[in-house]
Amino acid sequence: MIDPRSPAAFHAEQALLPQGWARDVRLQVSQGRISAISSGQPAQAGDERLPILVPGLPNLHSHAFQRGMAGLTEIGGGDGDSFWSWRELMYRFLAHLHPEAVEAIAAQAYMEMLESGFTRVGEFHYLHHQADGQPYAERAEMSARIAAAAAQTGIGLTLLPVFYAHADFGGAPPNPAQRRLIHDVDGFAQLLDGARHALATLPDAVLGFAPHSLRAVTGEELAALLPLNAGPVHIHIAEQVREVDACVAWSGQRPVQWLYAHAPVDARWCLVHATHITDDERASIVASQAVAGLCPITEANLGDGLFPMQAFAREGGRFGVGSDSNVLIDAAEELRLLEYGQRLTLRGRNMLAPDATRSSGRYLYEGAVNGGAQALGVAAGLQVGASADLLALDPLHPALVGRSGDALLDSWIFAARNGALRAVWRHGRQVVADGRHLQRDAITARFAQALRGVLG
Ligand code: ZN
Repeated sequence: MIDPRSPAAFHAEQALLPQGWARDVRLQVSQGRISAISSGQPAQAGDERLPILVPGLPNLHSHAFQRGMAGLTEIGGGDGDSFWSWRELMYRFLAHLHPEAVEAIAAQAYMEMLESGFTRVGEFHYLHHQADGQPYAERAEMSARIAAAAAQTGIGLTLLPVFYAHADFGGAPPNPAQRRLIHDVDGFAQLLDGARHALATLPDAVLGFAPHSLRAVTGEELAALLPLNAGPVHIHIAEQVREVDACVAWSGQRPVQWLYAHAPVDARWCLVHATHITDDERASIVASQAVAGLCPITEANLGDGLFPMQAFAREGGRFGVGSDSNVLIDAAEELRLLEYGQRLTLRGRNMLAPDATRSSGRYLYEGAVNGGAQALGVAAGLQVGASADLLALDPLHPALVGRSGDALLDSWIFAARNGALRAVWRHGRQVVADGRHLQRDAITARFAQALRGVLG
């Protein structure tokens, strides 16, 4: 039987391929993956016909449950309000979450990601235990809830279970607000086994893991964790000046400096934020081919500071974007804000595109597709063997009318607000039509019910 939501072939008038824009592209799909691509081809009967096709964007850093507290931490706190006071509120919210609520909130977040153009999420998942800190009967219960939310929405999942053991540098004991997060190395190995099992029914899930930060993991623990799993390794690093100062006070080294001196950082790694770095630290990241995981909306919301993106881009650094706290889920806005942060501080325009062969939108989009895929452990973009994660832009959207090629990306990212993304296929199956997720009503109703319970 032919499933109308899973066409065997697509035909696009224009498509962004790894080698650039191409016309009359025919793309065949088998078992969710791209099996053939050719350009200059006529459409055939039964093809799903698209005017504008671009690859789905990876979202390399998310804490899905935080979508449920979006907008609840914007009250003036005087001079003391900061990332750290935000974190206190986050811990209070987290204390009320039960597995059903986590699944419902994650489904809402993943649905919004798909509607905005993110087709795979790197879930940096640290809420593991019951409210009193005891593991659930199934240790990976919460990981299974994340997997269930991915299954319901259809989003691609790279699950990054988080190892968290300490409250501060040097192995300080965790504080009570962190008890739902804590593991020792043996318990974490069990968690990874459970998470592997939880992902088994998803078509193309990837398992990595995440030592939370250098505050939460010691050097000995990091060395013991790395052999436990071959997938991607993500870590929060150098997000806050206070964190950098504490690391220097503890070790005499800055966080990125310490990490490169003590761990085999390579292309398997994603350094999330890396906001506060020296020129030497930046050079280390570029040379290692690790991905810088940038989260411009959240970094702005939390007052983190600005990653030195222009210098990093000019040196060929690899990057991707993440929605992190999910205070607002908008793929195009993450890219827009990444560029605008540089324009505002460096006082110029088009600060990241290397030369006239790439527009800003093209540079940002391609960079985030390639770096995001690397960080999430999958093949990037529209190529044979990659998952068929496809976005159809609307040529009739006022911001896109009369455009072609790079101007389509520039206009979507810088000029379209929303509504420019018309349809999304994930692993070959349609999940968004006319800008709406196909299960939006059910997912939103369940989210609303869960959230009333948690906030009530
Ligand atoms: Zn984060």
